[in-house]
Amino acid sequence: MKNWVCIAAMLLTLAGWTCAKATVTLDVEEIKDDAKLVAWANQAKELIEQWHPRMLNFIPSKDFEAPSDVTLVFRKGDNGIAWTSGTKITVMSGWITKHPDDIGLVFHELVHVVQQYKTRVPGWIVEGVADYLRWALYEGKPLSWFPVSNKANGYRDSYQITAGFFLWLESDRCPGIVTRINSAARKGDYKDAIFTDLTGASLESLWADYMADRKTEKEKSPSTKK
Ligand SMILES: [Zn+2]
Repeated sequence: MKNWVCIAAMLLTLAGWTCAKATVTLDVEEIKDDAKLVAWANQAKELIEQWHPRMLNFIPSKDFEAPSDVTLVFRKGDNGIAWTSGTKITVMSGWITKHPDDIGLVFHELVHVVQQYKTRVPGWIVEGVADYLRWALYEGKPLSWFPVSNKANGYRDSYQITAGFFLWLESDRCPGIVTRINSAARKGDYKDAIFTDLTGASLESLWADYMADRKTEKEKSPSTKK
């Protein structure tokens, strides 16, 4: 374990802390006839205004300024859920009509606005970081909530599966590792070897340890006893 590396990395990235406030441009033209959807859209706008400054503190980088102008567009239809391109977040009305409680999806998309990875970064890192921040920090889910994968490289299964792995790494192996990975991705320096550099163990062996811990925790959990 190389926790001193993690702590040093975290202190270095603290230099990137900033308190910029977001300006959100809201486009509800396509959904303007549905009062419930418009109310949801305004709640989403507030979420961005409220969390944008804190988001920068979750994943800071030295000399990095996150974009402060965010566009939030609502489109009518069922074609997908939500996505982000640059600083523009698009949300589809069909999903939020069926899942009005899923406001946290806006938080996930906001992470993408603040990530600003310039070069090609594996999708499981991009989505794993976004879902780690959403489900572990914003929604406050415990490790036992996160789904797992039995594959030897299950960490690549992305979204909530990778997010659970990151939560375990943060709490068990290397506090600050997500910030460090994010900084490397922003600078165009991301390589899988960063896990070995920061923890002294390969991704595969970290994943195997994680899976073993999750299995033990499941066996200990009273809810799984028959
Ligand atoms: Zn995403």
